[in-house]
Amino acid sequence: MRATGRIYRDKENIPVRFSGILIDITEHKQDEIRKNDFIAMVSHELKTPLTSLKAYVQLLGSKARQNKDEAAVNSLSKAEGQVNKMNNMIRSFLDLSRLEAGKINLEKQVFPLDELIEEIIEEVTLTDKSHNISISECASIEVDADREKIGQVINNLIGNAIKYSPQGKIVEIRCLLIDQRVQVSVRDEGLGIPKEDLAMLFDRFYRVESRKLKTISGFGIGLYLSSEIIKRHNGQIWVESEEGKGSTFYFSLPAKEPV
Ligand code: ADP
Repeated sequence: MRATGRIYRDKENIPVRFSGILIDITEHKQDEIRKNDFIAMVSHELKTPLTSLKAYVQLLGSKARQNKDEAAVNSLSKAEGQVNKMNNMIRSFLDLSRLEAGKINLEKQVFPLDELIEEIIEEVTLTDKSHNISISECASIEVDADREKIGQVINNLIGNAIKYSPQGKIVEIRCLLIDQRVQVSVRDEGLGIPKEDLAMLFDRFYRVESRKLKTISGFGIGLYLSSEIIKRHNGQIWVESEEGKGSTFYFSLPAKEPV
């Protein structure tokens, strides 16, 4: 049941009257659950063929490298990049439906965050040669967190920086230790975000509606998932951006206490 209206109280502050509208949303909720189940089922079914597709593309890639067939190496690394994108998309759908069903569990471990960042950049630069992606500085900091999920957040932020920037632009990653918290930032020189959109950016399915951005495809769930993951780690996520100049996305996490 969803209610909008006003509750009137007596002198003892006890509710005595309600005036407003009550809407039965059972059907709507059931629709959402069915939609969620469907998305989860389709995503789950797509996972297995995509995993083997990736393995075949990698196999062909290493054969092409052995044969020194530059053209094939190039095409296959682009194909692998596209398969990775699809994998990330499917993972986001599965995570979204798990999150809605309250089934996201963190599997925490202590690990060096700078190593994870380096690993991700290495993987991204293998398949994306069109941007200048680099770490400008990164302190060696350990965190007690879910490595895979934090990796997903970093991947989302770097993926967006690439997606929403013209080719040839820089993407700069930095991680600092500030007051026992790790602060990671991903800066791009891309399209930027209009002021009026900033407050809703981390909402589910939110996408900026500008003419330029309309042509770039997406579902508006990456930042929502990233913010849910960071919040569950007692962290914060935020953005600074200027339309036409670029954006910097930040997140911070508690650093592991030194023993
Ligand atoms: P998607 O990219 O699939 O639409 P996200 O949740 O990752 O979903 O991002 C939500 C929206 O935020 C995007 O549609 C885009 O309008 C905006 N956005 C995210 N990252 C950037 C960025 N680095 N530069 C400009 N706009 C961005």
